[in-house]
Amino acid sequence: MNTIEKFDRYVVHSYNRYPLVMDNGCGAECHDENQKKYIDFGSGIGVNSLGFCDAQWADAVSEQAKKLQHCSNYYYTAVQAEFAEKLCNAAKYEKVFFCNSGAEANECAIKTARKYSFDKYGKGRSNIITLTSSFHGRTMATVSATGQEVFHNYFFPFLEGFINAEPNNIDDFESKLDDTICAVMLEYVQGEGGVINLEQDFVDAVYQLCHERDILVIADEVQTGIGRTGKFLAGENFDKKADMTTIAKGIAGGLPMGACLMSESVMNTLVPGTHASTFGGNPVACAGGIVVVDKVSNERFLADVNEKAAYFRKRLEKCSKIESISGMGLMIGITLKDMSASDVAGKALDKGLLVLTAKDKLRFLPPLVIDYKEIDDGIDILIEILEG
Ligand SMILES: *Cc1c(COP(=O)(O)O)cnc(C)c1O
Repeated sequence: MNTIEKFDRYVVHSYNRYPLVMDNGCGAECHDENQKKYIDFGSGIGVNSLGFCDAQWADAVSEQAKKLQHCSNYYYTAVQAEFAEKLCNAAKYEKVFFCNSGAEANECAIKTARKYSFDKYGKGRSNIITLTSSFHGRTMATVSATGQEVFHNYFFPFLEGFINAEPNNIDDFESKLDDTICAVMLEYVQGEGGVINLEQDFVDAVYQLCHERDILVIADEVQTGIGRTGKFLAGENFDKKADMTTIAKGIAGGLPMGACLMSESVMNTLVPGTHASTFGGNPVACAGGIVVVDKVSNERFLADVNEKAAYFRKRLEKCSKIESISGMGLMIGITLKDMSASDVAGKALDKGLLVLTAKDKLRFLPPLVIDYKEIDDGIDILIEILEG
């Protein structure tokens, strides 16, 4: 059996996969098992933030793996301490809880918000507002939080306590605020929901209205965080700091790692026995995360991300087959005039370009280290497909 046949035989068919067996990669390029080359505009859904197999990252990770690969959270490790310090400083947060994925980071934020409110106000104030077309994960709580009806099938009963409001509709948001609400959770740029930007006015209003009522703001930056939008956190583009910010995807350069960053308001809410994760703060993942934070929090690195994003967008704007471009920084969504995004994604694969889709848009989340030649080569392939 070849690889695809083994998947068909042994792996649960819960993904529609492209017929690509990925073998190795370097920077923004990878190769399949026949050594066909691909340019990567997806970075494993925003995970390989430093591209494939960054040399410093690979050294840090392999050295840690040879020294200490796991340690229970009953004990301390220097590598988790160092990562926590660097991450909190770069993100400008007080404390962090470590877990292993975006959904888990959101679970932590949801539990913390409810406990914060319970400790202060007692029962009956546990509802959380999330936005229509949001995406917060696949666990029972986070899928319940996700504001898309397509996800609310089969798995009944879903978790109670999530109320949806429309993005960029201040009146609708305000109408949902009552004394049952403890928190609002939002993505500054909705990723899976179709690369939809929140507007500054809306974000301002949400923060203002929540602040007046002691309602917590949770920013789900699982996709937008860690340099993706040209700032370390996307919230900085809006001049906002949420009570909690959740991150995952790009934070450890390709290893499973999630984190819930906590500001002073909530940093003492979780106490021993209330929340935990066996793998959370894994030493190898932390060693990778240190390299990512060191590189991405550097001002010069972030300026480069912004310059590359501007160049990328300028090239796309010249294409007559593109209706509109959304997103921020190197998180890019495009609406096509006459082709379907999934058709284009399939054709791109054939021609050696990896892209993502989000709803009816094409979506690009290239590694933050992509160079100008790779951007050009990838866009040339795309334009060849679109303009035929
Ligand atoms: C990907 C994503 C998640 C879920 O992350 P997992 O690591 O797959 O659990 C949550 N929120 C947002 C905004 C995401 O993009």
